[in-house]
Amino acid sequence: MAKAGAAVAVEAGDTIPRIKLEGIEQRYGAGQSEVLALTGVDLEIGHGEFLVLLGPSGCGKTTLLRIIAGLQTPTSGTVSIHGRPLWEKGRRNDKAMAELGVVFQDANMFPWLTIEDNIALPMKLSGVGKAERRRRANELCELVGIHGFEKRWPRELSGGMRQRAAIARGLSCNPNILLMDEPFGALDAMTRDQMNLELQRIWMESGCSIVLVTHSIREAVFLADRVLLLSPRPGRMDTFKDVELERPRDTYVQTTAAFQSIERQLRKRLDTFS
Ligand code: ADP
Ligand code: MG
Repeated sequence: MAKAGAAVAVEAGDTIPRIKLEGIEQRYGAGQSEVLALTGVDLEIGHGEFLVLLGPSGCGKTTLLRIIAGLQTPTSGTVSIHGRPLWEKGRRNDKAMAELGVVFQDANMFPWLTIEDNIALPMKLSGVGKAERRRRANELCELVGIHGFEKRWPRELSGGMRQRAAIARGLSCNPNILLMDEPFGALDAMTRDQMNLELQRIWMESGCSIVLVTHSIREAVFLADRVLLLSPRPGRMDTFKDVELERPRDTYVQTTAAFQSIERQLRKRLDTFS
């Protein structure tokens, strides 16, 4: 499926994994204080797949996401984005990076820029002209449900709305892959449920692959095509769970036996960690 306007076009029948991780290991520090944070991660993430990384605090979820995002180089192992190595001779590959969008837990909006300018910032940095930036920012505000707030300051929006703006910014350069680190962790339960529904819709409309980190089992099962449970430190790939529930999912799916069975299996496994 070709995605119109994508930074890097995806051709029909393209079966190259969006993300391929081989032999990933991450150590922090040196000598006596050395910490093995992550080891033995070999993973392929498919085109259009929604993968959720789940695991206890400190198991290396953020580390793994930062490695995929090219924000840090692993101690060993390789990352390929759509067949291209993310790092070559110590340098980041710009073409591979162009496929990625990132959203973190805090919306991290610049307070001195309007919502529109915050969303448009990655486009500005990659040389997109002013008129096109404005057009695209408006289109994205529509997509994430904050149309009409383009000229507002971040402080004028609620936490949920700022997080929507952060998702819009993550999508602004038409990434094929969206990486999200506990994007709804700071929101109240009701807003979070609503954002889960919205994220599912945005993902279905945009056709991108998503890797989302959470420590909520319910959020993981609700959103994922596939859940990867990581073990406590050092983080290893512990359990994969396919979630074959029909899309689009609504809140009531959480009351079904199928949903609860997957949730229970993951909880049981997580309980063995503590
Ligand atoms: P999670 O996101 O699952 O909570 P992290 O990836 O943040 O886990 O951290 C995994 C482990 O690595 C933790 O023990 C953490 O203290 C350690 N760690 C993370 N980043 C650093 C760093 N920059 N320097 C040293 N230790 C780190
Ligand atoms: Mg984390």
